[in-house]
Amino acid sequence: MAGSSKRFVIIGGGPGGTTCATHAARLGAKVTLIERDIVGGAAHLLDCIPSKAMIATGGMMSNMKQASEMGLAEVEAKLDFNALKERIGAIEGRLEQSISSQLASQGVRMIEGTGQMTGPKSVRVERSDGGIEDLEADVVVLSTGSRPRIPDWAPIDGERVLTTRHAYPPPELPDRLVVIGSGVTGVEFVHMFSSFGSEVTLVVSRQHVLPQKDPEVAAALEQTFVDRGVRLLKGARAESITVENDRVMVHCDDGRIAEGSHVLMAIGSIPNSDDLNLEAAGIESEWGYVKVDHNCLSNVPGVYACGDLSGKLPLSSVASMQGRKIAEHAMGMHNGPHRHIDYEKAASAIFTEPEIADVGLAEADAFAEGRKIRVTKVPFSVSAKALINNDPRGFVKIVTDPLTGVVLGGSIVGRHAAELISVIALAVTAGLTVTDLVESLFVHPALAEVLGEAAE
Ligand SMILES: Cc1cc2nc3c(=O)[nH]c(=O)nc-3n(C[C@H](O)[C@H](O)[C@H](O)COP(=O)(O)OP(=O)(O)OC[C@H]3O[C@@H](n4cnc5c(N)ncnc54)[C@H](O)[C@@H]3O)c2cc1C
Repeated sequence: MAGSSKRFVIIGGGPGGTTCATHAARLGAKVTLIERDIVGGAAHLLDCIPSKAMIATGGMMSNMKQASEMGLAEVEAKLDFNALKERIGAIEGRLEQSISSQLASQGVRMIEGTGQMTGPKSVRVERSDGGIEDLEADVVVLSTGSRPRIPDWAPIDGERVLTTRHAYPPPELPDRLVVIGSGVTGVEFVHMFSSFGSEVTLVVSRQHVLPQKDPEVAAALEQTFVDRGVRLLKGARAESITVENDRVMVHCDDGRIAEGSHVLMAIGSIPNSDDLNLEAAGIESEWGYVKVDHNCLSNVPGVYACGDLSGKLPLSSVASMQGRKIAEHAMGMHNGPHRHIDYEKAASAIFTEPEIADVGLAEADAFAEGRKIRVTKVPFSVSAKALINNDPRGFVKIVTDPLTGVVLGGSIVGRHAAELISVIALAVTAGLTVTDLVESLFVHPALAEVLGEAAE
């Protein structure tokens, strides 16, 4: 097989790095993976997995509040914070073990330590045991991820003033939480802590939450927040934070102050590239993100970057797919443009209640581009399964090409939206038409039936 003796050195063991490692090893490469912390990366240890584990617990508490509506005697759901922490630790432990054994079974050499470039094809590792190791490679993959952005006015202490990295789980359950940032991460925090009973204020710098999303979807989420008693401070830009004993105050540019027991910053992330010594290899970057082409290749032949460090879509799923594609490209298996990742077709979800998920072309973007589309929308209230679930909130929206009927995109607000969007994602990726969806024999009763109806 082409490139079968290639030596890969991968710095960073998140979803990007580990997927690349296993795939390249499967294709016959000799792979070394350097990770300074935990295999699985921030995605498993600090971001996706613990957040979704906490949200799942909050979701169960919400469901239990509906017990009487489901024909059950009243049940009181009481959070056991220590048990929750243990649960998160157990999930993370199992995932780490499973990824480590996959890597080991493919013969990937793992080095615990911090890697940096010393030349275009050479990497130095400062091992956790104090040793130094110099490695030569045919292919270097940089997959060091990102970390929360912290403005200089935020006195982060990990106790009262937190970033996302302190919040899964936080040191204690906040009585009154102020969340700064109303993008995907911010709204998931609002949802999670309001489910646990915290009083939550959300500082929204624009006039609506989720500025990048379909306005109808964002409005549906805002309504849920209002129903839960979340205070929305709209059009307010936080510019300083003061802490007085157990009180935290967020001062906004228009003079308003949001007060709480804790504050959580969720205002984006910055790439982990400062200690990679990119200059030694002549690797070009922009704002710390490694500049890559459609194959995730940097300006230096043989040096690739994936995941958050590549400055593309910061999603675990995207990082993994990039890792896979890098392995194939570097091993000489990538032929033709059809094999490149199309970031426009990446499905994403927001794990609030109701869940929100979308993929492909958004209605608002199509209108902004003056593109002719057909939009169909069906509410879950028509679904027998939604009524059985006692949750008829939300809708399915499908965007199609009016001439060909090809499915271009869609959004879903409602229970299990993150699962259901996969059907539309597959349709978008495979170029399926509305007829394909309408003629699919979905299970009855199932929420997926609404997808077929929305495609009519
Ligand atoms: C709160 C939150 C929730 C999220 N939820 C989701 C979600 O539900 N779904 C989703 O798809 N995405 C989610 N994301 C995004 C997702 O976490 C990232 O896109 C994903 O982690 C990126 O993977 P990666 O491989 O680039 O890097 P990471 O997962 O960040 O891993 C990078 C690894 O590199 C290591 N490293 C860094 N520098 C070095 C070095 N010099 N030497 C050795 N090792 C090094 C780090 O220790 C780390 O383990 C979430 C993000 C946040 C902040």
